[in-house]
Amino acid sequence: METKEFKAESKRLLEMMINSIYSQREVFLRELISNASDAIDKIYYRALSDDAITFHKEDYYIKIKADKQKRTLTITDSGIGMTKEELENNLGTIAKSGSLAFKNETELKDGHDIIGQFGVGFYAAFMVADVVTVTSKSLDNSIAYKWQSKGADGYTIEEAAKEQVGTEIVLTLKENSEEDHYDEFLDEYRLKQIIKKYSDFIRYPIKMDVSVS
Ligand code: ADP
Ligand code: MG
Repeated sequence: METKEFKAESKRLLEMMINSIYSQREVFLRELISNASDAIDKIYYRALSDDAITFHKEDYYIKIKADKQKRTLTITDSGIGMTKEELENNLGTIAKSGSLAFKNETELKDGHDIIGQFGVGFYAAFMVADVVTVTSKSLDNSIAYKWQSKGADGYTIEEAAKEQVGTEIVLTLKENSEEDHYDEFLDEYRLKQIIKKYSDFIRYPIKMDVSVS
């Protein structure tokens, strides 16, 4: 499988991100939940203008699943999904904030820092994860794709099996060290606290699923 490089400016920014320009790395979850919510908004707006799409609000939610044994945190949404091209362009390029227009004023005023506003949100995942795997099926394509990256080296992309339209993001958390304990992001109570702190305004239900170790 071919490994593709990130665009130069993306690579620099990603390195900064990994070395934590955010003071609190917990904000990665806010960024991923906000992207999931934006993706659901997009399918909702499409449904308004396209009679072929039926939108049932109850089918749209964001799921957070922690697996203590595998040390993975998975964020799943039933939003619009991404095509292969969109995975490459949107996750391989920094500062192409396509969804800025979708964000309402309150969201921007309320807790969204500068970095979040300039479209580097997704890369925040690398503050806590060694490997980020994005499996997505677009509303506009019957084939799903898996995008995977270990950080600044680039990413791979291949076909994948996924029935439902939407996106699943699996974070393989970094190993704990003396100073850093990434296990906190597998703890149900801690996750709920982070969600309450940063994502309370999200319009869609956020469901939680934590495996017993
Ligand atoms: P921003 O949200 O400001 O555009 P991000 O870095 O957070 O910047 O995300 C980059 C782009 O990747 C988004 O604009 C969107 O097109 C795409 N994207 C990220 N996460 C998802 C998702 N869960 N579903 C669909 N598209 C996504
Ligand atoms: Mg975002």
